[in-house]
Amino acid sequence: MIRAIRGMRDLLPPDTERWHQVELAAREVFRRYGYREMRLPLLERTELFARGIGAETDIVAKEMYTFTDRHGDSVTLRPEATAQVVRAFLENGLARTAGVKRYFLIGPMFRYERPQKGRYRQFHQINCEALGSDAPELDVEVILLLVDILREVGLKDLRLLLNSLGCPVCQVDFRAELKLFLFDREGWCPDCERRRGVNALRVFDCKSSHCQKLLEGAPALIDFLCPDCARHYARVKELLGRFRVDFTEQPRLVRGLDYYTRTAFEVTALGLGAQDAVAGGGRYNGLIRELGGPDLPGIGFAIGQERLMEVLPAAAADVRRELVFLAYLGAAAKDRALALLGELRAQGLAALMDFDDRSLKSQLSLADRLEAAAAVIVGENELQEGAAQVKWLADSRQERLPLGELAGCLASRLKAHG
Ligand code: ATP
Ligand code: MG
Repeated sequence: MIRAIRGMRDLLPPDTERWHQVELAAREVFRRYGYREMRLPLLERTELFARGIGAETDIVAKEMYTFTDRHGDSVTLRPEATAQVVRAFLENGLARTAGVKRYFLIGPMFRYERPQKGRYRQFHQINCEALGSDAPELDVEVILLLVDILREVGLKDLRLLLNSLGCPVCQVDFRAELKLFLFDREGWCPDCERRRGVNALRVFDCKSSHCQKLLEGAPALIDFLCPDCARHYARVKELLGRFRVDFTEQPRLVRGLDYYTRTAFEVTALGLGAQDAVAGGGRYNGLIRELGGPDLPGIGFAIGQERLMEVLPAAAADVRRELVFLAYLGAAAKDRALALLGELRAQGLAALMDFDDRSLKSQLSLADRLEAAAAVIVGENELQEGAAQVKWLADSRQERLPLGELAGCLASRLKAHG
């Protein structure tokens, strides 16, 4: 038997249906905020991510699915969405007009990580990107949008962590100070040993609890903010307070990409264990220019769908699907049932039947296994009388309905039940 690739999961019903509900809820919130969908290729030139994420990041250094295509070009399965949203934004001329451009993107991402609970090699994200304004009000809009989605889908006990990463100006002094601190201590993991020389900020992103412990007492970026960045951060916090969004300041929070500036945030949820970040986001004011575009700011977030599904309250069990199962006895009844099947479906009902001429008993047990709401029985008698026996499977109640009115009657009863 051929098995799926490690770290890649099959998503089957009824989970697919719950995923769909969550995505529908997210789309509805995006609509209210005026965000519109982008659907982009899963494959991009490797160079896009190498430049758009940063060579020293975990993603680029060790997590990308990169290969050479038949033409000899290096291509990569997308590990995240922001770089490619910016690529599409520039390539399609969307940067040419003024104003904020608001997009969302839902789909799979690929990272070669060690598979464990909450960490897969193909996982899915709901992404949001707002390009073209540096206003702190936009930061707050994006955070409110995120919180709205998470609340809408039923997530309780969420925690919003907030930080400011400043801008290249504030980061100069900070990096110098941080380097002193990092070289003053020994015992870093091999990655951090290298990072402290080349990209000191990345040390904050280290997953090793040992390095995290060594980082205690490290200088905090918020103490180095330039007046503009400090004003921006203060305004974000003021507005979050005004909109009654609780947050915790987390001075060591950095993001996994190199081009993040100013506002950075993460949402964690109870009940997820070690991988407790459900969503992360922030400003990336340097990214659009880095990718060859104009000097435009941007901000966004990504929700990890697997982790979100993990913490959502399970759907109420034992809800019979609004499905009608048609059972038949004999060739004439089969033909009539086939016609009825078409009528029910045309009326918008979910209906199906078995075609293999099984006994009535086994057809009814099939209906039960499919969790149908009702089984309609059509036999010789029913054909003569022009009425069908309907069995409601939740409570075994039975009734007779005229064949001519079957679709309408079932539809109104199912609506009353739902
Ligand atoms: P982590 O610190 O957990 O590795 P990250 O900083 O790499 O997360 P982001 O790049 O910010 O993650 O992606 C946003 C969200 O996507 C995360 O908060 C998480 O919910 C989800 N996510 C990231 N990597 C994975 C993965 N390998 N499997 C499942 N979900 C993931
Ligand atoms: Mg990661």
